[in-house]
Formats: sequence, C-alpha cells, structure tokens
Amino acid sequence: MSDMTLVAPGERLLETTGLSVQYGGVTANSDIGITVSGGEIVGLIGPNGAGKTTFVDAVTGFTRSTGAVTLQGSRLDNASPHRRRRAGMARTWQAGELFTDLTVAQNLAVAVQPVGLRAMLSDVVNGSKPPAETIDHALVLVGLSDVADRRPGELTLGQQKLVGVARALVGGTRLVLLDEPAAGLDTHESKEFGVELRRIADTGIGVLLIDHDMSLVLEVCDHVYVLDFGKVIAHGTPSEILGDPAVVAAYLGSPEVEATDNHSAPRHSKEDS
Ligand code: ATP
Repeated sequence: MSDMTLVAPGERLLETTGLSVQYGGVTANSDIGITVSGGEIVGLIGPNGAGKTTFVDAVTGFTRSTGAVTLQGSRLDNASPHRRRRAGMARTWQAGELFTDLTVAQNLAVAVQPVGLRAMLSDVVNGSKPPAETIDHALVLVGLSDVADRRPGELTLGQQKLVGVARALVGGTRLVLLDEPAAGLDTHESKEFGVELRRIADTGIGVLLIDHDMSLVLEVCDHVYVLDFGKVIAHGTPSEILGDPAVVAAYLGSPEVEATDNHSAPRHSKEDS
C-alpha cells in the first residue's frame, strides 16, 4: 500500500446504493448501486443523456441526490464537495481546460488551493501553498515529472489530458472519477492514455472512467456498468458487456459496442430523455 494513497489492495473504496437524482420531471439517476475498489478501473458507459455526468456530480456532491455514498466505509452523502474532496475523492470535468500561461506544476497548484475565508487568512498569515511534494507525487503518478516546468502548449494532447488527471490526483486522492478524460485523442494516444491509467490504478487508486471511446473502456476496465435512461442496465467484464442483449439494444445502431470505433453514435440525445 502506498502511504500517499492509504488504500489496501482490493479494498472497497466507493459504494453507492439507491443513488437517485431528479431534475424536475427528469429522473437523471435511478437507484444506482456501484462499487469501485482500490486498484480497479471501473467503466461507466451509456448513450448520451444516460446520466453518467449526473452520477459523478451526485457522488462528488455537486448535485442533490438521495441514497447512500460511502468512501472506505464512511458515509459522505450529506457532505459538501470540499469535504468529499478532503476525504479522498476527486473528479475531472468534461471541459477541463488547463491554464495555458501557467506551467504544468502551477496548473496543479492552482487546482488544490484551499477556498474560503479561513484559508484566505491562513494564506495571508502563513503564505501557505500546497506542498511541492504532493504536486511532484501527482506528476509521478501520471508519468509527467519531466515536464513540470513546461506550459501546456508545449505538450502533446495526450500529455495535456494527463495533466488534467494529475490535477485530480493532488492531495492524497484515493478515488478519481474521470469524465471523458480522453476526449479528442486519436487511437494511438488513447491507447497510451490507457496504459497510464493502469499505472495509476496499480498504485492502489480506484478509477471510475466515463468515456465514449469504447476501445479504451473495453481494453482498460476491470468491469463496466452500463447506464441507460438513468438506470444500470448491465454490469460485468468488458466481454460480458459486449455480449449483453440489453447493452446492444441501448446502443442500437452504434458501432461502439463492437469496440471497432472510437466515436459514439448515441441512440438518443439529451433532448429525447
Ligand atoms: P453525455 O454522454 O452526453 O455527457 P450523460 O450520460 O453524462 O450524457 P447527463 O448529462 O448526466 O447524461 O444527463 C442525464 C439527464 O439529465 C439528461 O436528460 C439531461 O438533459 C438531464 N440533466 C443533466 N443535468 C441537468 C440539469 N442541471 N438540470 C436539468 N436536467 C439535467
């Protein structure tokens, strides 16, 4: 076990039970129960509007939900996003742009600056900033120590995506929820990205991966949950998922469940849901 991540191999990290989110008349998440253990990469897939981002919002405290969210056995469903972050869960955002005029290390430092009046006063009094070793550790985890002093524009797109992941890994993250972290990568870059994700998970961190790149998801995930209209319609290993008639029906007409294409052709749009 890494002393930075404090997760025993195979330890259950995230568990949701009966997690539901209602937006007006839309049930965006309905009774979702999933688990992610230390060292695992768990996929969460589904057509556009199926409720994947809503699930990440609910788990991390950015939207109101009912049901239970536990991290290493501690209930967090009433906790603020900041408390959940401090407890060890972190997320990336779909439009997770980097600051182009800051270095890679500065991009990570900015992401973990504490907020609020008390933090501001402590900043003024102590000149506090995140310890350099926590930033270094996150960069080691994604294999980017060598480019800490470069600006994002000097990196490949794949490296930039990994900086986005590293931002979420700063500060003892045990569970990371990645919302389409590989968007825009070509097949080769996406494969390399998958290798880095596996290295991160091998340190004991639990990874929840949402992505429309089915080749990536099916290649790198230990197991996969499939959402449709806010409900889990299937769960299993990548090969079990591929053979599941409910999954094929949910993706009807789209090639991604055959793992031959990087792009999704969703059955229904957000407007339909
Ligand atoms: P995508 O693959 O396109 O990112 P998704 O699976 O992440 O889609 P969500 O964005 O979670 O799906 O949306 C689930 C449903 O909830 C959709 O019907 C969407 O229109 C609705 N929804 C999402 N966010 C809100 C919101 N803030 N207010 C109202 N409805 C919302």
